[in-house]
Amino acid sequence: MSKPKKTAVVTGAAGFLGSHLTDRLLAEGFRVIGMDNLITGNVRNIEHLAGNPDYDFIKHDVTKFLFLPGKVDRIFHFASPASPIDYLQIPIQTLKVSSLGTHNVLGLAKEKGASFVLASTSECYGDPLEHPQKETYWGNVNPIGPRGCYDEAKRFAEAMTMAYHRAHAVDTKIVRIFNTYGPRMRLEDGRVVPAFIGQALAGRPLSVFGDGSQTRSFCYVSDLIEGIFRLSQSHYHEPVNIGNPDEMTILQFAEAIVRLTGSRQPIEFKPLPEDDPKVRQPDISLAKQLLGWEPKVFFNEGIEKTIAYFRDFLRMKP
Ligand code: UDP
Repeated sequence: MSKPKKTAVVTGAAGFLGSHLTDRLLAEGFRVIGMDNLITGNVRNIEHLAGNPDYDFIKHDVTKFLFLPGKVDRIFHFASPASPIDYLQIPIQTLKVSSLGTHNVLGLAKEKGASFVLASTSECYGDPLEHPQKETYWGNVNPIGPRGCYDEAKRFAEAMTMAYHRAHAVDTKIVRIFNTYGPRMRLEDGRVVPAFIGQALAGRPLSVFGDGSQTRSFCYVSDLIEGIFRLSQSHYHEPVNIGNPDEMTILQFAEAIVRLTGSRQPIEFKPLPEDDPKVRQPDISLAKQLLGWEPKVFFNEGIEKTIAYFRDFLRMKP
């Protein structure tokens, strides 16, 4: 007789990362219970799972009391708006999901004796004064600025996670996710990857904020999921950066999108949003040493796949 499957719960299951993580867990032989309130997630990201006997979806807001019958082995807390435009529009939900929501989901992990992975963020480092960013850096965050609702909520979530680990011995892990891209991002979510690809494909100028000298380092989603899956198997409890150290300026990124989409769109400079981090690059030595992990997908390859996804998406859009 085959062994009974382990059960994983994924919050934010219909989001970009939650849905890719779900696919990976199913491929690894887990039964998955996905939860999402669908504020920023989209059922389109999980419609391929309809009818899968190992998958259940519950439409639920994790800031509300959470009850699940049965055994749960692993919990991945990925629910949260993650795009600056989203969290500017829904700052209170953003604060609530990573504070009240994290508390509820940690409570579930404690009750079930399940391990817990928190999706944290490079935003914990704010507008960093240390570059590249190591996990030991405490960050430079403006708590009352427009990004404060996201950054401080995630910092609170990390503190709550460590407290559950220390006070209740919950087997917790924290992944600090750096800019990630790939299929299933929302075209209109405002983040730079879908924004520029969407503009290039629709024949509109590319909106570079500021002078485009700010930097980001982009990780393809399959690499990120690999790192997170490995971390979930580890017994390391402090935060671990997962991201791709391949750093570029936003202007270089815009030029790459113009070139790779074959569009002739000009670049249009727009005001830089308040508190926009000037630089960002993960130091991934810890992930390398701890998990034997490093990204494998080169920028051009990942971006080509992402452009192809958005081309199909726009073709199929009603
Ligand atoms: N950005 C831009 N044009 C856009 C969207 C974003 O120039 O249409 C810039 C933004 O100012 C930031 C970078 O691209 O410096 C990455 O922004 P994103 O919203 O993807 O996420 P962040 O890394 O700031 O959380």
